[in-house]
Amino acid sequence: MPNIWILRIGHRPQRDKRVTTHVALSSRALGASGIFVDTKDSVLETNIGSVADRFGGDFKIETGVQWKRILRDFDGEVVHLTMYGQRIDEAMPKISKEKDLLIVVGAEKVPPEVYQAADHNISVGNQPHSEIAALAIFLYSFTDGKNLYSDRDGQMTVIPNERGKTVVEKHS
Ligand code: SAM
Repeated sequence: MPNIWILRIGHRPQRDKRVTTHVALSSRALGASGIFVDTKDSVLETNIGSVADRFGGDFKIETGVQWKRILRDFDGEVVHLTMYGQRIDEAMPKISKEKDLLIVVGAEKVPPEVYQAADHNISVGNQPHSEIAALAIFLYSFTDGKNLYSDRDGQMTVIPNERGKTVVEKHS
């Protein structure tokens, strides 16, 4: 499976605090390697870093990036999630499983350059909804859901339980 990266553009730290946090957490939970966010946000970096420290894996977050440069220099295929894009079921077979993947999600209106730079403009349904939902459905489908319970070797591991909470903590 290639490395999967997320590029979040249009992030407004005050207004989008929770949504961008959930974009990052959902992409980490579903197996992405890291996220780039266009606006500098040290609080977001700290919060996501803290989850990754406790729950394992090596998810990376970088904020304050120049999204045009990331798009231009990315070595792999670029998917842009937009309600105007091609149907996900028709687009999915066309995406390489060999090359790294960069998935772009917006906050507000996305500039036309993104549509032009993307190898695939893909919709998850043709109704407006949410970048968190679109990304989660796309990642689940692209990875066949294989990362949902993958071991991250964290300080804390949640063991699935029909009732109650089971958490294993590593002591160093
Ligand atoms: N008009 C925007 C668009 O192009 O989809 C809606 C903005 S929406 C508030 C923020 C982000 O959610 C979009 O940039 C897109 O990444 C994602 N999104 C919303 N609905 C989507 C859908 N049906 N399919 C794919 N992505 C969607």
